[in-house]
Amino acid sequence: MSRLLSVQESEAVKNVPKMVLASNVKVPETFDSKATYPFHYEVIGHDELPHVVKFSGGRSSGMMLFMLLENGFLKPKRGDVIVFNDTSAEHPETYNFTAKCKRIAEERYGIPFFWIQFQTYEDARGGKWVRLPTYRLVKPVPWSKDEPDGYHWKGEAFEELLSWSGYVPNQFQRTCTQNLKLEVTRQFLRDWFACKDSTGRLGHYGNGSRMDDDAMYAYHQKHRGKVPKEIFLDKKSYVRSRPVYRQQQSFSNFTQITQSIDNPHLAGKQFGGNAAFGDDGVEYATFVGLRYDEMRRVIKVQRRNSGGPEANGYEGEHVYMPLAKIGVTKEDVDEFWNNQSWGLNLPSEAGLSNCVYCFLKGARALRKVHKQMETTKEKKTSILDSPCDINWWKRMELRYGRDLEAEKRALQKKERAGAVIGFFGIDSGFSYDLLEKNGRGKVNISKFTKTVLPCDCTD
Ligand code: SF4
Repeated sequence: MSRLLSVQESEAVKNVPKMVLASNVKVPETFDSKATYPFHYEVIGHDELPHVVKFSGGRSSGMMLFMLLENGFLKPKRGDVIVFNDTSAEHPETYNFTAKCKRIAEERYGIPFFWIQFQTYEDARGGKWVRLPTYRLVKPVPWSKDEPDGYHWKGEAFEELLSWSGYVPNQFQRTCTQNLKLEVTRQFLRDWFACKDSTGRLGHYGNGSRMDDDAMYAYHQKHRGKVPKEIFLDKKSYVRSRPVYRQQQSFSNFTQITQSIDNPHLAGKQFGGNAAFGDDGVEYATFVGLRYDEMRRVIKVQRRNSGGPEANGYEGEHVYMPLAKIGVTKEDVDEFWNNQSWGLNLPSEAGLSNCVYCFLKGARALRKVHKQMETTKEKKTSILDSPCDINWWKRMELRYGRDLEAEKRALQKKERAGAVIGFFGIDSGFSYDLLEKNGRGKVNISKFTKTVLPCDCTD
């Protein structure tokens, strides 16, 4: 990679005061792996591995990020990198907060911060044209014709996934977390840890989609798909309207930090031009902002760390959760941000982080989200029919939900005739419609609070 050893702080960043660490979350000034600290590496040598900070756009991961930065835990030469997976369904204030964190992390602390989004591209596989998943780097500005490298925020990447897969995620099949977040991060790291200057171009050179209706449908049927052709092709039309290729992108166009990576732990670990994971592959330390009061999620991630079936797909990754480790709770995170002169401009209790109407937030939280967003919608009409608007989620469910009756699938006793598998599954009894009905006091929403899980998306 080309070199730019120091980045000057812009006026905007110079005016941001140094972060104040709350008294109850003191971490050492300089790290010594032999000393005993509240937070320490679990295995000797992990401090030498490249570090990946998974930034979710929320307060907890923001606090973790600045604790790591302020304490000098991150080093660009080691290959350390901060990654934000943008689902294109985040709140506008999350985008503002993330853009500011990126700027400060790069200009003040010299650590590269990449913002990435899911996309697909068309290529030939096994003699036919197919769509394959990948990611693109985006700049911290909204997409427009003049800013084609900007981030999509009207649900484009999310809908591309639904159209590509042909169904909507639900609590049992979290295809959104898997594809929009986990997979794109791994793909990005394959490029980043290969120490390349740029990502490669992917896809054919045609002007439009080369996929053929009949061939696509025959493939669907061959794999026991039973969606009627008309519905199937309608679902696929959005993904086929998206770009057929992923252009080559230079990392230096998406970060201000271009210091060379010089880490012997990455040497000789490439295969076919990309970093390899698994046996003798790249190992890295990941930092996730799960807190002490989120123990169910912490334990789930810890299981991944200890090998076994949960570790499949995460080979080479060693997850650290410093907030959980040093006992940081939601109150501590709020105290941390209350001590700064800036932060995420969203009410702490409103549950607006991650995808705005995420189906995993739980009925009670979704009701709060809806109340907030209905007020915001009145003032900010640009968010109409974006993921900040409940109508977008209803439209996605209607178009991409699985209609079991149309598929002529045998329905279980408890499933209603004409049942559609939507964001809340088939028989939870909960739907986005209820949020609106409940607003008029017609439905008691509390009976649904146990039917959905809290969003796990920082995994
Ligand atoms: S926040 Fe919710 S909807 Fe968004 S990717 Fe995560 S699980 Fe899916």
